[in-house]
Amino acid sequence: MIVILKNKPDPDQLEGLISWLNAQDIDVHPTVGSSQTILGLVGDTSRIDMNLIAALDIVEAVKRVAEPYKNANRKFHPDDTVIRVGDAVIGGGSLTVIAGPCAVESEDQLMTVAKAVKEAGANLLRASAFKPRSSPYSFQGLGIEGIRLLMKEKEEVGLPVVSEIYDSSQLPLFAEIDVLMVGAKNMQNYALLRALGKTEKPVILKRGFSNTYEEWLMSAEYILAGGNKNVILCERGIRTFEPSVSGTLDVTSVPVLKGLTHLPVIIDPSSAGGKYTYVPALARAGVAAGADGVMIEVHNDPTRAKCDGPQSLTPKKFAKTAESLRRIHSIIHEEEM
Ligand code: PEP
Ligand code: MN
Repeated sequence: MIVILKNKPDPDQLEGLISWLNAQDIDVHPTVGSSQTILGLVGDTSRIDMNLIAALDIVEAVKRVAEPYKNANRKFHPDDTVIRVGDAVIGGGSLTVIAGPCAVESEDQLMTVAKAVKEAGANLLRASAFKPRSSPYSFQGLGIEGIRLLMKEKEEVGLPVVSEIYDSSQLPLFAEIDVLMVGAKNMQNYALLRALGKTEKPVILKRGFSNTYEEWLMSAEYILAGGNKNVILCERGIRTFEPSVSGTLDVTSVPVLKGLTHLPVIIDPSSAGGKYTYVPALARAGVAAGADGVMIEVHNDPTRAKCDGPQSLTPKKFAKTAESLRRIHSIIHEEEM
């Protein structure tokens, strides 16, 4: 962190600032110029409130030169984080395909889709029992009954499951759920993130509609700092000035995030596109950009789905898409070797 001081700073105030920083284990290295003095701050500045410093009378500006996230930062953890869920391996160059309905609706729906996506090569099943919808009048999920059906799927079909959690009070119900998903609306639900940090369960952390990479990584930091190292980032489309699509898939986020962090990065082309016709192309773009996986919504009867039918692929279309993703992934892999 660098602090640029105003011309002729009051010596007592400067002394006060330096001793306040020293008390927090920060070494201060002043560089005195003819018209301006700058302070170089060395140490763990992630806990220093830069706004507090910026508000001082003697301070012109404060700039961070190190990222405020430590645990998620690739600089301190150069190797990719690899997360294992059953037979699935997420991160480290593999392609993880997560597929399934937006929500658990019935036993027949869940088992039919689970069998179909497994057959098409999916590694994990997604299906939410608890749905925080934009409208309180929309289908909110089957709740505990949905969790029971997911357990049944694991026994009968055998795919590990990903399901959405939006309140820490739901945690006891998720004891047998393999991967917890934090939806875009809850990316900054810090109480929830802290609670997930105390578990060992893999967490898929979706990017909020309007959040920056740094805000997203700071949310991941909440989980990691609590001791849970199993975080997967999921780009799901952001809000832009374009009103004709549900969101704009930020493909750029994939290479950028892969550089900034060691955490696996996956994409959700279904939430991004909002319409099933866009899903295969967006999924392929994500894998081509280097994503560690995709999460795709699949429904056996999309026109009658209780949640996100318009963006769901049929099992047949999903199988075709999954095949093309494997081909793209293998081309990228060959090039890197
Ligand atoms: C979902 O994956 O079903 C979902 C609700 O997505 P998001 O939180 O990204 O809107
Ligand atoms: Mn959905």
